[in-house]
Amino acid sequence: MATVADVTVHEGHWIGGERVSSPAAFEDVSPIDGQVIARVARGGAEEAAAAVSAAERAFPAWARTTREERARLLHAIADGVDKRLEQLAIVETTDNGALLRSHLRGVMPRVAHNFRFFADWLLELGHDDFDTRGHRNHVSWDPAGVCALITPWNAPLMLATWKIAPALAAGNTVVLKPAEWTPLTASLLADITVEAGLPDGVFNVVQGYGEEVGAPLVADPRVRRISFTGSVPTARHIAAAAAPNLTPLSLELGGKSPLIVFADADLDLAVDLAVEQYDNAGQVCLAGTRLLVQEEIAAEFTERFVAKAATLRQGDPRDLSTDIGPNIHREHFERIDGFVRRAVEAGATPVIGGGPNTDLGGLYYRPTLFTGAAADSEIVNEEVFGPVLTLQTFRTEEEAVELANSTRFGLAATLATGSPERAERVTARLVAGTVWVNCFFVRDLQAPFGGARQSGMGREGGDWSFDFYCDVKNTVFAP
Ligand code: NAD
Repeated sequence: MATVADVTVHEGHWIGGERVSSPAAFEDVSPIDGQVIARVARGGAEEAAAAVSAAERAFPAWARTTREERARLLHAIADGVDKRLEQLAIVETTDNGALLRSHLRGVMPRVAHNFRFFADWLLELGHDDFDTRGHRNHVSWDPAGVCALITPWNAPLMLATWKIAPALAAGNTVVLKPAEWTPLTASLLADITVEAGLPDGVFNVVQGYGEEVGAPLVADPRVRRISFTGSVPTARHIAAAAAPNLTPLSLELGGKSPLIVFADADLDLAVDLAVEQYDNAGQVCLAGTRLLVQEEIAAEFTERFVAKAATLRQGDPRDLSTDIGPNIHREHFERIDGFVRRAVEAGATPVIGGGPNTDLGGLYYRPTLFTGAAADSEIVNEEVFGPVLTLQTFRTEEEAVELANSTRFGLAATLATGSPERAERVTARLVAGTVWVNCFFVRDLQAPFGGARQSGMGREGGDWSFDFYCDVKNTVFAP
């Protein structure tokens, strides 16, 4: 057991309704001050197999429960999240360095909402029967079996529950493998599922490194669905591991999304939207990290952006007045700095930032904006996943669309314009799973979510989630 910000967190796996340890452990380090906050069980092939076995054993009974019973249990889990909201928020902040303010006000309430939403959606899920020459077609949403869920560190519990809730609602059992940099809230969620009365083995957690415990998990032929959120290189490994078993995959991957600002935009709004891209110290998959600004307003936009960015308070994420906290881990911090140094060497100019925040030390990186980066440069095309934006200019609508669609990603796009007609024209041509017009990060769980190109495969949300987590079956009854 570890005590993290006065909260007791179990450091073991959660398999078949029991806490299980491993011969080895890994150190979980807080990005706030570099302190070791927990020594977590370091699982491998054995623990992955045990968790799949437990999930497999629990599946038949769970799959037979009524929709009402599953919905009731998911609501009970949501109640447990609400009850422990402050604990979850402070543990998550200590573990991944994201703002306590966001965890309290947005993220953890959203975690509870993930469970409530899919519980309620389940009760409405259906498909009207239809006739074929007097025969009745009946579509049913059968649970698929054991689901392996692999999640990243940037929004650990939020992203995990966005998968766990629909997977369980559909009648599947789950093995979750949280990111090794942020293992703690998954462990707290296991406690909450017990308090809610979820049967043993329906929800399991294995802890450890991706290559050691994640790889055997996704390669297990008993796993019937793999849902992964993370980076493109890891997705390639997972897709290769899934291939021999033809395990259906959902992939939510990285992005290099554009934020397009037309000269007819409300400039205050556009600047606010642009500065918002530093949220979570830039560790947001959907972030519009490429600012594409129409030439005639570029100077004024940049001036206002710089002034607005200067008002951001960087510091301890537990302080409710902080706007930007630390980045997740020394290794990731160095990676961000590497991108920035190479961008400078390649001729880009940091208008603001351009290096670590030496006043604060640790893992605090200054919000950075580059101009003058070449269209084919690394900084414009690769995901940094830190507080680093580039600004490019364009002359025409045509050019804006071309630049927006010019990377190998297609996760999201944001548009600032005062013209509804232009918004219609441009959004129709953007390659992206989500497009926001004059807004950012408005997300409804019933909307499809996912990425085009190398940003992912498949969609989740509402019916799309159930479509993925179910074996949808059509039965034809003779007259
Ligand atoms: P990552 O790919 O390094 O790791 C993600 C998870 O995969 C971790 O739990 C890790 O342990 C596991 N893993 C690693 N190797 C594995 C293997 N061989 N087999 C099975 N599992 C393995 O990603 P990250 O650095 O944790 O997260 C950042 C990335 O996630 C960014 O690219 C970001 O854009 C992306 N992301 C995407 C979304 C989205 O919804 N599209 C949301 C958040 C983050």
